[in-house]
Amino acid sequence: METVEHECRQGRRCKARTRTADDHWHGAGVEKPESLCRACEQSAFADIRELGDDYSLLAAASGKPQSQRGGPKVSGSSEPSIPINLAADTLVTAIEEESARWARRLPGEGWELTVISSNLGVLVGLPPQRVTVWAPHPDGGDDIRETVMDGVDAVLALAALHQRATKVLGLEPERDQKLDEPCHVCGWAAVTVSVKTQLVTCHRCHNVWHQDEFSRLNNPLAAA
Ligand SMILES: [Zn+2]
Ligand SMILES: [Zn+2]
Repeated sequence: METVEHECRQGRRCKARTRTADDHWHGAGVEKPESLCRACEQSAFADIRELGDDYSLLAAASGKPQSQRGGPKVSGSSEPSIPINLAADTLVTAIEEESARWARRLPGEGWELTVISSNLGVLVGLPPQRVTVWAPHPDGGDDIRETVMDGVDAVLALAALHQRATKVLGLEPERDQKLDEPCHVCGWAAVTVSVKTQLVTCHRCHNVWHQDEFSRLNNPLAAA
């Protein structure tokens, strides 16, 4: 029998955790200290790969014109009448900061979230390093703070942003999918479809259609 020397960094929250006879939960055994087990790593990587879609949906839902944002350009006009959604806007900023922090430590160029998704194996193996983070100040505003994070911290922080995005957007994991087609009302590629309800939602203009109606309205030529 192999001897397990270390425990998955997720500890009691490990996806492959086990319970001992005296009712304690333990993370799965790993070879390297301070690392994630395969189950936790794969789950976090899958979450991070969703961040690009999260970002465009959140940017649309935030109500700010896309021209102020980085990332892929979405065609269509901005609708200044849409109120700013603070939760979505805050999360857009958090994704921009966290992805910028780690993309510059990785090989490759381009959009930060693409660089990160293409280098997840490198990212998780990064040694501990000093990073600068913005922390909310009790009296308001933000403070710059130095802290130490390694690649596992980075992967967990990015994966947590996807979990937050799922809540803010009201998406059910595995059930709502982003469509590539833009919304025919506002022109933004900010549309998801729920596999369960077959309802299509635009996160920019907040219109909802049944998916049959959406295809008909979005593509009148095909329906004719
Ligand atoms: Zn684990
Ligand atoms: Zn729309």
